[in-house]
Amino acid sequence: MDAQMQTPENGVKGRIHSFLSMGAVDGPGLRYVVFLQGCPLRCACCHNPDTWDAAGGTEYTVEDVLRRVRRCKPYIYESGGVTVTGGEPLAQPVFTAALLKALRAEGYHTALDTSGAGALAAAREVLAHTDLVLADLKFSSEEGYRAH
Ligand code: SF4
Repeated sequence: MDAQMQTPENGVKGRIHSFLSMGAVDGPGLRYVVFLQGCPLRCACCHNPDTWDAAGGTEYTVEDVLRRVRRCKPYIYESGGVTVTGGEPLAQPVFTAALLKALRAEGYHTALDTSGAGALAAAREVLAHTDLVLADLKFSSEEGYRAH
């Protein structure tokens, strides 16, 4: 199969805050990092409050993101990959699943950086296309979440 063949997933749209073309602390190796827009939590320690608004950011298709990632293929493909973070990627489960599926189809290692906030049923489809989960749990108790 042509690795860059168009599929229905490639037209799925999501809202993205920003991109980082060379991340060194977001999973194994050098990684392309996609910061999704929108987060249901409001952590007191948040470094990226500008990702909170689900209506913010800019809309991209999966194919738009793939085009950006392919430009970095020479240095992320062999020992790195692509990390999807946010915001909270599970707040856009359909887009996140489609993006990870498309990336995997082109041979990229996929990582999901998530706080775990999201619907379990929707997360299952995302996890089916995820090689590595970076579980960024913020607190160890419900009281901790409510307090902070
Ligand atoms: S989960 Fe992450 S993006 Fe969301 S509020 Fe907490 S630190 Fe910020």
